[in-house]
Amino acid sequence: MSVRVRIAPSPTGYLHVGNARAALFNWLFARHEGGTFILRIDDTDVARSDPEFERDILDGLRWLGLDWDEGVGVGGPHGSYRQSDRFDRYRQVAEDLVATGRAYLDDRSPEELDELRRRAQKEGKHPGFYIRRPDREATSGVIRFSVPQDAPVTFDDVVRGEMTFSPEVVDDFVILRSDGTPTYHLASTVDDVDYEISHVVRGEDLLSSTPKHILLARAMGAVPATYAHLPLLFGPDGKKLSKRHGDTALRSYREAGYLPEAMFNYLALLGWSLDAETTIFSRQAAVEAFELSSVSKNPAIFDRDKLDWMNGEYIRTRLTTDEFAARARPFLERGLTRGLTADEWARFCEVAALVQERVKVLSEVVDQVRFLFEDEIGYDERSWSKVMKPGAEQVLEEAARRLEAVDPWDSESIEAALRAMLADLEVGARKGLQPIRVAVTGSSVSPPLFESLAALGRDRTLARLQEARRRLASGSDDTLR
Ligand code: GLU
Repeated sequence: MSVRVRIAPSPTGYLHVGNARAALFNWLFARHEGGTFILRIDDTDVARSDPEFERDILDGLRWLGLDWDEGVGVGGPHGSYRQSDRFDRYRQVAEDLVATGRAYLDDRSPEELDELRRRAQKEGKHPGFYIRRPDREATSGVIRFSVPQDAPVTFDDVVRGEMTFSPEVVDDFVILRSDGTPTYHLASTVDDVDYEISHVVRGEDLLSSTPKHILLARAMGAVPATYAHLPLLFGPDGKKLSKRHGDTALRSYREAGYLPEAMFNYLALLGWSLDAETTIFSRQAAVEAFELSSVSKNPAIFDRDKLDWMNGEYIRTRLTTDEFAARARPFLERGLTRGLTADEWARFCEVAALVQERVKVLSEVVDQVRFLFEDEIGYDERSWSKVMKPGAEQVLEEAARRLEAVDPWDSESIEAALRAMLADLEVGARKGLQPIRVAVTGSSVSPPLFESLAALGRDRTLARLQEARRRLASGSDDTLR
């Protein structure tokens, strides 16, 4: 049997990292098995579905490199892969199930159902036990699936092993609302059957829905899919991953300048591992090694610090300097809120290798090199007060004098001139160079000094030394940021 898997996001919000992880595991499994990866859009909730969210989902999957073989955006042999196009089909299945006695119309009021639940609670029973086919026949209302009472639902979850649900804990669930729209259970199962899905690989939060889907598939005369429930994502504090832990939308990682290959690698580790020791691996290595049965059932921890570390590793070790500069450019331009001229681009390329060593995400680049592109720099207040101590004025004056004479203007000559200055003034690098760094870049954190001055150019360097001296002399703090 060929492997056919799907992901079925609802376009009611931005693509969540948990769904991205589920998509990635489905994709890895499909690619490893030479199977088919399908994208279905679960937009039965027409009011809450939004084309912007759908676009975000497609963009996010493409960004991670999770190409799909059938589905929304690419089509396929099964017609539409969008649930809102298939309401007639779901209604037909629901009506067929009523005709064969596997489902029934139910017009009980919410109060009547509440009363049943209350009674179950009082007797210490599962509420589902009481929501069963009533004696009276209805001609309108919702359609409920009639859960067979003769045997438990048992299935072999690829990740969690054998699972058994007694019929007492499965209520007669609604499959079609009274307005004729399908519930998630119906639409999802009909699609999984119609699209011949072989494996349903999804988050453990849906585990309690699975017996319902298995019963429905059987009632449709189909062999249910094989199920694999992925462990949920938790924050480092052991609580379920939520906004409290930071961003949960994949797009915010993309916007912050995480590399898609690093994100791919990191998500792959949320519940799976290549082997006992390898943390950084290529997509190809993951495809070759991936086994659904080696997914762990333990909660997976989404740890931003580890992701940052990994992204920094990718930036430093997996990109050439040219690639780094090209990928950093849009982030830099966004941070500066303008495009770079050819001259400025050349200036950035001069220091790119040094910046590459120092950032964890691409959006950090702009703060490292802002001084290269802005005429008026603001001084970082803490840096300024830390280094502009007595003696700083003399250093700045002396540095300006010597830098004026440096020839050629390159990092070696600049370094030689400033080191000679340190020796002559008998000051150490910290006392002698930090004031220059703050004067010229505005901050005590920047790429290495000599290269920074070389990229900035002589005129700008001298002008900034001058400006810092003016400021020191007037004791003003008007330009602090
Ligand atoms: N639309 C459902 C969700 O986003 C699909 C779940 C499933 O994979 O069945 O949670």
